[in-house]
Amino acid sequence: MKANDKKDIRQFTREELTSALKELGEPSYRADQIWKWLWNEGAGDFDQMTNLSKKLREKLSEKYFIPKAKAFKVQNSNDGTLKSVFELYDGAIIEAVLIPVPKDKRFTLCVSCQVGCSLSCSFCATGKMKRVRNLTAGEIVDQFFEVNKQSLETFGHALTNIVYMGMGEPLLNYKEVMRSIHFISHPDGINMSPRRITVSTAGIAKMIRKLADDEVRFNLALSLHAANDEKRNEIMAINEQNDLSCLMEALRYFYKKTGNRISYEYIAFQNFNDHPEDARELIKLCKHFPVRVNIIEYNPVEGLDFIKSDEDRLDKFAAILANNDVRVTVRRSRGKDIDAACGQLANKSV
Ligand code: SF4
Repeated sequence: MKANDKKDIRQFTREELTSALKELGEPSYRADQIWKWLWNEGAGDFDQMTNLSKKLREKLSEKYFIPKAKAFKVQNSNDGTLKSVFELYDGAIIEAVLIPVPKDKRFTLCVSCQVGCSLSCSFCATGKMKRVRNLTAGEIVDQFFEVNKQSLETFGHALTNIVYMGMGEPLLNYKEVMRSIHFISHPDGINMSPRRITVSTAGIAKMIRKLADDEVRFNLALSLHAANDEKRNEIMAINEQNDLSCLMEALRYFYKKTGNRISYEYIAFQNFNDHPEDARELIKLCKHFPVRVNIIEYNPVEGLDFIKSDEDRLDKFAAILANNDVRVTVRRSRGKDIDAACGQLANKSV
């Protein structure tokens, strides 16, 4: 059998894996063992599965393969942020970022879910790359296994949180993103609470409703970045079919069905969306359901004209929100010197 005739074993559900093992004449507990190797240990090779007989390992590698995402480069930022560059089995490149906050014992992984992105938000480096393909759940979870190792080695602490805010739009790779979260939160997998997982979307109303109907248990973040349709259309083309009123409807539905935490991400651009009037419009969008606003310092991207708000404007903007009972956090950017900050992932170092 040629290598490219082999099947990716990580595409199986647990039931499918059990049937596949049955076809090979193996009892069902073998499927449980393999499942753990794949989703708890992050095995990249059947030879690592030492509690299987050599014969079974050979049989498996004749029919199946494990297309691991392999980290081949790690960059360290002055502020402790680590960016890892991964090569996928077909040569595509993606990036993942570890954001450590040791004083809070918080070690967050930002994962990518697509190679490139089709949404072309005008301030984003990934959006300039165009979408190449979706990642599989296995390739998403590989980012966890690799970066978790780095976190343990560098900070002596495992990852505590995951955000789907790297390259790509998670809700346009719905099936594999959901599968990856299943493995990450499953007790026989990585066993991380869904409350520690946040999926961030540029705003696709129909898919937000689907998340609600699927009764997901993780948190949802909307990359808002502008508080009226006119400005949002200017920087996020997706807003033309998913305007703020339909997004608010969808988020209200999500909150009503799941009760899960919702946040708005808001990158502050100097003289574009950081006026007091913008803050007042944003306050109105915080009245529909409980929401936290994360104001993010912009990181300049080469070739783009946006400028980051200066600190004074940023603080005044945040103060208007806070004085109107909006729960707001200002996030100073991390990993700027290695292009690992929000909106900067574009495989520039490769
Ligand atoms: S901000 Fe997100 S959705 Fe928009 S282009 Fe960048 S990666 Fe895609």
